[in-house]
Amino acid sequence: MDFSLTEEQKLIQQAAKDFAQTELLPEVIERDDAQRFPEEEVKKLGELGFLGMMVDPKYGGSGLDTLSYVLAMEELSKIDASTSVIMSVNNSLVCWGLEKFGTEEQKEKYLTKIATGEILGAFCLSEPEAGSDATSQRTTAIDQGDHYILNGTKNWITNGSSASVYIVIAQTDKEKKHRGINALIVEKGAEGFEIGPKENKLGIRGSDTHSLIFNDVKVPKSNRIGEDGFGFKFAMKTLAGGRIGIAAQALGIAAGAYELALKYSKERKAFGTEISNHQAIAFKLADMHTDIQAARLLVYQAARDKDNGTNYDLSGAMAKLYASKVAMETTVEAVQIHGGNGFVKDYHVERLMRDAKITQIYEGTSEIQKIVISRSILQ
Ligand SMILES: Cc1cc2nc3c(=O)[nH]c(=O)nc-3n(C[C@H](O)[C@H](O)[C@H](O)COP(=O)(O)OP(=O)(O)OC[C@H]3O[C@@H](n4cnc5c(N)ncnc54)[C@H](O)[C@@H]3O)c2cc1C
Repeated sequence: MDFSLTEEQKLIQQAAKDFAQTELLPEVIERDDAQRFPEEEVKKLGELGFLGMMVDPKYGGSGLDTLSYVLAMEELSKIDASTSVIMSVNNSLVCWGLEKFGTEEQKEKYLTKIATGEILGAFCLSEPEAGSDATSQRTTAIDQGDHYILNGTKNWITNGSSASVYIVIAQTDKEKKHRGINALIVEKGAEGFEIGPKENKLGIRGSDTHSLIFNDVKVPKSNRIGEDGFGFKFAMKTLAGGRIGIAAQALGIAAGAYELALKYSKERKAFGTEISNHQAIAFKLADMHTDIQAARLLVYQAARDKDNGTNYDLSGAMAKLYASKVAMETTVEAVQIHGGNGFVKDYHVERLMRDAKITQIYEGTSEIQKIVISRSILQ
């Protein structure tokens, strides 16, 4: 398998690296501390074309491939995973689904603005009683002829208060179970739509995560994505691609922590020599480097599968499962290599360790990835 990058892919990678260093790094600790949303930074990301990377330029996107997207995700996540999840949700969970399954009218009205970053999107599947078991939707969208009436609560929604457009998954026909679920586009400000308080999180604290409450919200039928009953399939297909973005986020978190640990190990002295000269530390670095490269190959393979039109359910799940494990293990070891300094904010690795955990939880927990993988290999 040849993963050599094209000149264009290298340029995207470098642009993302430069952006992370110049725009994200300076205030990343403050944003994490204050749980401050990176508003200015996200605006600039939009101007650079990073919020609709794979969208056709006729809808305001950059028209790039998935590999370019994961390269950018990796570079941003090395520095600031709060910003990269905002980018990931907008690209993979909102733009992709709208472009692939939306009507021409929906694309013109919503996608063109979301892909340029003029406004942000959110993807609303999880509920208090429906997380891993996403078929147990309690939010209802009752068919009223030319519109639906939406009632229920969604939780853990990324871009919860900063988005302007929300793709909401809801049950229309309970009898039909998951075949009776729809995906609806809901605009911020719709009557009866309330945004709950911001979650106080362990990691990715710069991103805004909220619950959303819908009380008799009227949604025109023209805002339904796909045929009646397509909502669950829509959500699963969208998440299958989303996982590649989160796998790239996990890879970036791991690589960022490794780079910091490598540098520190060559500077810090103990027992009269740089700690990298102690084999216990050198071996940790060897393991980290190997694991990260293995994760990178899985992430690139999943991206390639998607670009080639090959089924990427299995490769995406494997990439997310493995890269998120590597992110967790690598960040813990990076803190260890930093000793006491690893435990304080100034050295960044404690934040990367906190941020790594979410990659094993959202867009399908690691246990759910193993269900996807085992089903695929046992069929
Ligand atoms: C910061 C953050 C941002 C998020 N952003 C979004 C978003 O933008 N949109 C959205 O819709 N959701 C979002 N989520 C929700 C996220 O996708 C869910 O939290 C996740 O899918 C797990 O669901 P749950 O929390 O209900 O856990 P549960 O489903 O209750 O799972 C609890 C535990 O049981 C395990 N488990 C469950 N079922 C099985 C099984 N069959 N076999 C083995 N183990 C099992 C799980 O793996 C987990 O370890 C976000 C969550 C967080 C924390």
